[in-house]
Amino acid sequence: MDHKPLIIANWKMNPITQKEAEHLFGSVEKEVRRVKEAEIVICPPFVWLSSFRVKSKIQLGGQDCFWEEKGAYTSQISPLMLKNLGCQYVIIGHSERRKHFQENDEIINRKIKTALKTRLRPILCLGEEMGDEIGLRIGEQLEKDLMGISEARIREIVIAYEPIWAIGTGIPCSPDEAMKAALFIRKTLTKSYNRSVAEKVKILYGGSVTSQNAADYVKGAGMNGLLVGGASLNATEFVKIIERVIE
Ligand code: PEP
Repeated sequence: MDHKPLIIANWKMNPITQKEAEHLFGSVEKEVRRVKEAEIVICPPFVWLSSFRVKSKIQLGGQDCFWEEKGAYTSQISPLMLKNLGCQYVIIGHSERRKHFQENDEIINRKIKTALKTRLRPILCLGEEMGDEIGLRIGEQLEKDLMGISEARIREIVIAYEPIWAIGTGIPCSPDEAMKAALFIRKTLTKSYNRSVAEKVKILYGGSVTSQNAADYVKGAGMNGLLVGGASLNATEFVKIIERVIE
């Protein structure tokens, strides 16, 4: 595994204008140009993707994709389109998609397979609701979302552990809990594949990450990186998050 922490920004449905999007991207890019110790990915809304330089230090990702490569699917975005715009990554199965768009594990599994076929690296989001029995929901998500994915392809997938109650709430999960979830995920992958494969999969934490707590997850709890929502919309704060995990 590449041991550099992977820091991913999920801008969600922000910013509203191209000018603001370019300003935010440019402000981060200017500050991280010389950063070699972390891999940085920004996932902006689809419509702003073509505004950004693919040769930048920052890699690009989509926030979702469709399960077919092309055809009569009004409004959908093909993973091939993302690839052709210079994306290397795509977020799949974010809890906001599961909740607001009724995306189930079967859909997520199809999207992951098509993304892998087009050589995009899926960032699979999973996590539990408050009060769920430890491991129950994420065990089921892992089983269904990764069904039929070969040992050769699994290492291309990044898993983002995001407890639903921690997303956008300002109430992060404790680094200890995140570490326990990561261990559970690795154990499950070991059972489904094998230990050496399971060790190669990057497991990130996401949910109310700020520059104050970022290092606790990566340096403290040994997560392989972070998926950052709200705090990635402020260039200074996002750059600080990157600095905290590499200093
Ligand atoms: C997310 O959108 O994946 C996320 C983790 O959001 P936030 O950082 O705002 O909790």
